[in-house]
Amino acid sequence: MKILVTGGCGFIGGHLCELLVKKGHKVVSLDDLSTGSLSNVAGLKKCKKFSFVKGSICNARLVDRLVKESDAVFHLASVVGVKLVCDEPVRTIETMADGTSVVIKACRKYMKKVLVASTSEVYGKGSRVPFCESDDTVMGATCIRRWAYANCKAMDEFLALAHYYEAKLPVVIVRFFNTVGPRQTGMYGMVVPRFVKAALNDEPITVYDDGKQSRCFCHVLDVVEAVEKLMFHCPAAIGQVINVGNPKEVTIGDLAKFVKRQLKSKSEIKNISFEEAYPGGGFEDMRRRVPCIKKVKKLIGFRPKRTLKDIVRDVAESIKAGNK
Ligand code: UDP
Repeated sequence: MKILVTGGCGFIGGHLCELLVKKGHKVVSLDDLSTGSLSNVAGLKKCKKFSFVKGSICNARLVDRLVKESDAVFHLASVVGVKLVCDEPVRTIETMADGTSVVIKACRKYMKKVLVASTSEVYGKGSRVPFCESDDTVMGATCIRRWAYANCKAMDEFLALAHYYEAKLPVVIVRFFNTVGPRQTGMYGMVVPRFVKAALNDEPITVYDDGKQSRCFCHVLDVVEAVEKLMFHCPAAIGQVINVGNPKEVTIGDLAKFVKRQLKSKSEIKNISFEEAYPGGGFEDMRRRVPCIKKVKKLIGFRPKRTLKDIVRDVAESIKAGNK
């Protein structure tokens, strides 16, 4: 099959392109390289089955042509990381709202199956843990810039589901929960590469707030395997919203200690306030975020194979090999 991956040079997109090529598909990555990087697909550079198109998902003519030429579309292009969302809110909102509309419109025109990448952010401030797909979303105030991301992603989901409802456009929506692994950059706020990099350099590991907030980290290779199966081997996933994550929970304070111990680092673990971390404001943290994975387990037998230890090891190796 010929497959279009928007955001195919991003952290998750690059791993997905590698997997799809390995499965024998022809893959085209559309990426504007704003946060993506060709280094994420460096392993595919000489591969005849892979090609890269530099461009924006907001370019309707380009997207129309690429979707027309493809058999299926993975829509992963988006704005990356809480830091960027807070620092550049206009770009966040425009790229997410306009871009997804352009991609889905083209998929509808040619009736191409599309998988839309969404996020656990859409659960917002929901406090019922674990988060199940049918739970309410609880969004924060519009003056808190962080919530623009969650709202845009929720709108992407509404739009995809609307096309499924009106035209039976085959859509699959996946909500990623803190996907981490090799080649992820800490530049946009992601905690695992930031902690690992600090630990490797014996620099302070900065834990925000009291460190008792928790997350569930899922290895990117577990995630892309699930995504490929949901798209190509699971007709029951069509028209569904599906959590993809690892339910194993860890507090950020414990993560800092774990990374330090695992990498035999001399780093000091330092707690700083959110005001210090995000001097411009616009930030609000979630205390807990745990996926319910019953649905994805039922659909494709998903069970995350890689542990936090594997994650820290793989991220450390990737940073040592030159990843920023
Ligand atoms: N965090 C931290 N230090 C950092 C970066 C993040 O303590 O250098 C915290 C952050 O406040 C949050 C958690 O780690 O509670 C996960 O942050 P990340 O941005 O990776 O993911 P998200 O908040 O989107 O789940």
